[in-house]
Amino acid sequence: MDSLFFNQPIQQSDPAVADILQREAKRQIDQIELIASENIVSQAVMDALGAKITNKTVEGYVGNRFHGGAKIIDEVEQLALDRACELYGAGYANVQPHSGSQANLAVFTALLKPGDTVLSMSLAAGGHLSHGAPPNLSGKWFNVVSYGVHADTGQINYEEMEQLAKDHRPKLVIAGGSAYPRVIDFERMAKIAKSVDAVFLVDMAHIAGLVAGGAHPSPINHADIVTCTTTKTLRGPRGGVILTKDPAWKKKLNSAVFPGSQGSIHLNVIAAKAVCLGEAMRPEFKTWAHNVVDNARTLAEVLIDRGIGIMSGGTDNHLMLADVAPAGLTGDQAEKVIEHAGLTCNKNALPGDPVSIKKWRGVRLGVSAATTRGMGEAEMAKIGNLLADIWFSADGYEPDPAVIGKAQDVVAELTAAFPTYNL
Ligand SMILES: *Cc1c(COP(=O)(O)O)cnc(C)c1O
Repeated sequence: MDSLFFNQPIQQSDPAVADILQREAKRQIDQIELIASENIVSQAVMDALGAKITNKTVEGYVGNRFHGGAKIIDEVEQLALDRACELYGAGYANVQPHSGSQANLAVFTALLKPGDTVLSMSLAAGGHLSHGAPPNLSGKWFNVVSYGVHADTGQINYEEMEQLAKDHRPKLVIAGGSAYPRVIDFERMAKIAKSVDAVFLVDMAHIAGLVAGGAHPSPINHADIVTCTTTKTLRGPRGGVILTKDPAWKKKLNSAVFPGSQGSIHLNVIAAKAVCLGEAMRPEFKTWAHNVVDNARTLAEVLIDRGIGIMSGGTDNHLMLADVAPAGLTGDQAEKVIEHAGLTCNKNALPGDPVSIKKWRGVRLGVSAATTRGMGEAEMAKIGNLLADIWFSADGYEPDPAVIGKAQDVVAELTAAFPTYNL
C-alpha cells in the first residue's frame, strides 16, 4: 500500500461516500432535530470514533485478554469503567455492549432460560422492542407479560403491574421505555419485583444523561441491574452500558456479554464512551441536563396552549407524546408535514392506538439535540408555535405552502443563531 492509502482523506479517495456524509452533515446543521432518541455529539466523541484504535482486535476484559498487544487499550476500557462507576455511583460496570439492545440481551442471557417469564412495559405504552416485543428475539424466546399505562392519565398502571407480578411470578421485571415522559417510581417497582423474588432491571436508555446531570432521579439504589445507551441524552456514541450497585453481579454479567452474546470489542466506541462519560461529569453537563427538562416542559406547555394534546398533560424529562388528532392529522402526517420546514420528529403510538402504524395519533418530540445547540425556553416557544401553525393549516400530507415558507425562515434564523459543527 502506498502513502495515499494511509493518508488520503475520504473526499479524494471516495467522493461518492464523502458526498453523502457531507450532505447528511449539512442536513443536520440546517434543521431542528426533535427526535427524542437523538442528540449531537462533541468533536471529541467523533475523534475517538474515527481513531486508529479501531484496528485493534481484542476479546475478554481488562488484564485478561485473548489477544496480545492489549496493554494500551486496557487503559481506555478501564477509564470508561471508572468514569461510568463514578458518574452513576455504581459498584460494577460493563461498557462493551454494542448497543442498548445488546446490553438488554446480555441481561436476559445472564438471568433467564428460554421460556422464562419477563414482566415489562408494552411497546404500545412506550416500552422497547428489546423488552420482549413479539418480533424481537426477547419476545420469541421468553414468556412476556406486559403492563401498560392508565388510558386517562398516561401514567404507568402500578396496580396492574403488581397484580401481573403476583399472577405470573416473572423472573425479571423491567422498568423503562422509549416514549414515557414521566418519572418512573423505581422504589415502588423494586418492591413489586422483590415481593415475587424477581430481578429488577431498569433500562434508563433515554434518561441516562438526565440522571448523570442530576435532572432526573437515579435508579441505581433501587434496581438490581441498570442498562442504558450512551447514544441518547448521554450524548455519546451509539452503544450500551450495564451497571449495578452490587459488584457481586460482575461474573454473571461479564460472561453474559462476552462470550455469552458478543465477540471482539468495538474499541473506538469504548474510547468514545470514555469521552462522553468524562463530559457528563463536568458542571456544564449538569446545566445542560436541567435546561433539557426546562425546555421540554416549555415546549409541552406551548403545544397545550395551542390545542395540541400532550399525553399525561406534560413531561418530567426530555420527551413528550403529542396527540395531533385535534389538528385533524395522524402521527405519520404530522411527521411528514413538518419535515418540509426542516423540523424532524417521529410518529408514535399513543396509549390505545390501533396496531396499524398509519393510524397512530401521535408524534414523539424530544429537545435534547436543540438544547445541545444552546436553544432555550424562548426558542422552544417559537418551535412549539411553528409546529402548531404547520399542523393546524395542513390537509393530510399536504402542508400550507405559505405557512411552510414562513416556518422555513424561522428555522433558518434559529439554526444560524445556534450553530453546530463547522463544515
Ligand atoms: C433506545 C433504547 C434501547 C437501545 O437501543 P439501541 O438502538 O439498540 O442502542 C434500549 N432500551 C430503550 C428503552 C431504548 O429507548
